[in-house]
Amino acid sequence: MNSILVTGGTGFLGSNLCHRLISNGDKVICIDNNYTGRLQNIADLLNNPNFRFIEHDVCSPLSINDTKIDQIYNLACPASPPAYQGSHSIQTTKTCVLGAINMLDLAKKHHAAILQTSTSEIYGNPLIHPQPETYLGNVNPIGIRSCYDEGKRCAESLFFDYHRHEGVNIKVVRIFNTYGPNMDPHDGRVVSNFICQALSGQDLTIYGQGNQTRSFCYVDDLIEGLIRMMNSPKDFTGPVNLGNPGEFTIKELAQKVIAKIGGSSQIVYRDLPADDPCLRRPDITLAKTKLGWEPKIKLDEGLDKTIAYFETQINLFKKAI
Ligand code: UDP
Repeated sequence: MNSILVTGGTGFLGSNLCHRLISNGDKVICIDNNYTGRLQNIADLLNNPNFRFIEHDVCSPLSINDTKIDQIYNLACPASPPAYQGSHSIQTTKTCVLGAINMLDLAKKHHAAILQTSTSEIYGNPLIHPQPETYLGNVNPIGIRSCYDEGKRCAESLFFDYHRHEGVNIKVVRIFNTYGPNMDPHDGRVVSNFICQALSGQDLTIYGQGNQTRSFCYVDDLIEGLIRMMNSPKDFTGPVNLGNPGEFTIKELAQKVIAKIGGSSQIVYRDLPADDPCLRRPDITLAKTKLGWEPKIKLDEGLDKTIAYFETQINLFKKAI
């Protein structure tokens, strides 16, 4: 049984990871300040003797003195563009950078392996397609997404310096768009927006013309990739892309959601936010080779599961609009 610390543990990915680790028989310490995370995502774990929740912001140092930690998954960060932009942008950079430093220091103290959830956003608006890990990216350093993109890039830099100079056992994954149960209906990302809009009879809001593409990975596949990476041989640090190479335009996604949910929703077009990447698809050759990992759940199946989740949430959603 490993003692595993998960930062961002009440969020979308973090809560799915906590559930999976607990069902694997591990001990989990879940850390979150609940800025974008939600306690309801881990409510069923709170009475589990192998699970502990600590409300804490990773921007401050963290000491755990009563348990030897074996592994740390560092997920804490707002991940939806509406959540990380605007008035929260400075906090987002702090979370990426100070959070990385504080968790790397904790990993060093405990001689724990630490996995950083980096992002496809470090490739910015990519000029190479699909994106392999060797691509250095095309990021606007002063744009409205840069708090997240540059914050995550700086975190990768810190991870590799702690590895080179402090001997910390690091793992870095770059996560592409992921969707599934435990997403917040108000999160603002495209899959949750479209499903919640269709379920509540609203029109689906496409930003721009809808020709931009994304590659959507179902959460269970992604969690499997995180765990495989954490438990891979020590000399494999990554960075490694984790995502589903199936690529769709945003318009195709909207049409799929409308076809599945039915109702009276139409597609409406809104302004495209600045620096919104035109294309995105992971090259997952490295993950296949090193981790024996590739996604199993196709978009249609994953959307059906996600729609079923949001149907259970829809009353909450209706109350809020
Ligand atoms: N998008 C959209 N309608 C929405 C939300 C997002 O058309 O209601 C677009 C967004 O402009 C982007 C894509 O969908 O091109 C994916 O957006 P998301 O926020 O999910 O993730 P991103 O990949 O941009 O971080």
